[in-house]
Amino acid sequence: MASYGPVTKKYWALWDSLKLHNGVLYRKWESDDGRSFRLQLVVPRSRVENVLEELHSSPSGGHFGVMKTTHKVRERFYWDKLKSDVDKWCRTCSTCTARKGPNTRTRGRLQRYNVGAPFERIAIDVLGPLPQTTNGNKYILVVMDYFTKWPEAYVIPNQEATTVAEALLQDWICRFGVPLLLHSDQGTNFTSSVFTGLMDLLGVTKTRTTPLHPQSDGMVERLNRTILNHLSLFTHRNQNDWDQKLPLFLLAYRSAVHETTGLSPSQMLMGRELRLPCDLLFGRPPDDPSSPVEYLEDLKARLEDVHLFARERIDINTSRMKTRYDAKSHEPAFKIGDKLSASIPKNAIDQGEDGGEGVINREWPSTGDNESCNPTRLIGPWPLLTPTSV
Ligand SMILES: [Zn+2]
Repeated sequence: MASYGPVTKKYWALWDSLKLHNGVLYRKWESDDGRSFRLQLVVPRSRVENVLEELHSSPSGGHFGVMKTTHKVRERFYWDKLKSDVDKWCRTCSTCTARKGPNTRTRGRLQRYNVGAPFERIAIDVLGPLPQTTNGNKYILVVMDYFTKWPEAYVIPNQEATTVAEALLQDWICRFGVPLLLHSDQGTNFTSSVFTGLMDLLGVTKTRTTPLHPQSDGMVERLNRTILNHLSLFTHRNQNDWDQKLPLFLLAYRSAVHETTGLSPSQMLMGRELRLPCDLLFGRPPDDPSSPVEYLEDLKARLEDVHLFARERIDINTSRMKTRYDAKSHEPAFKIGDKLSASIPKNAIDQGEDGGEGVINREWPSTGDNESCNPTRLIGPWPLLTPTSV
């Protein structure tokens, strides 16, 4: 072995955990307590880009950040220097740097309540108005479970109380059952007699964000921002097809680790990861066959583990009062001669007539240091889909 390079030596050291499965090389990855394991496909260097493309840059990848992308990759693949490759890929992704500028940095707002089981307590919000789609939709009813972080987003043509109540009943309650507690903001659609009547009828306790603390409900607001970010990356320039992009965003979100629980919503809810397009592309070892009874017992044990882990995480996070996500700073630093690819707030841009290009019209970043900015021709994509009113 002595004559081989460091990469080969590293794989050699893993010898005991490498397995051949139908001629494909996997690494057996065991959890810390040794109670569960998964098989990671060992990816050759030449295919690393394909993996990152699928798990970060595709619609079901969703252009999530380093942590979420790393988690998605590790769930399925292994190769030497995986973490630093993912890191570099995300930081140099032109779509991400174009869209997710300093605007996305927000103060950490944590949920004030610890909930201990799926679908006990949910939060709802209406997002919009957005540009009307060809299907006539203008709003999104966003619903999220506090414990599992399972997100749903229903497209609706208007935000009248009956529309909202009907969507919540048909799409969430009929599928996931009646929540014990439902949290919303001050919106009139949630305080109307139609809506409160439905909640009374179902026996749901309703809480609201109070006018004095309008932002106590940070969880769903963060989801709203993520939705808008994502839609602006994938929506057609004339913005009339965002309602068709929403389901793929939800797939990406459900399979990405959530910063509060440390697990993906699908793990939290189903005890397993969702199969993504990349799993079909690269293949995935089939689960060991089991009888329904065996499966049920195994699932029960896994979910208990998962929920215990998440409860501890939520406790830690609540006392810490700031999530890792929020603590991260994204302050840019440009210097003269740097090529910018468009991480510029909307009001700093004179948009070209074709909507495709623009020029910085003021100093950026505004440090007061003239050396720090060099007006540069920019290529889109521009931030789209900002709600026209809140
Ligand atoms: Zn990206």
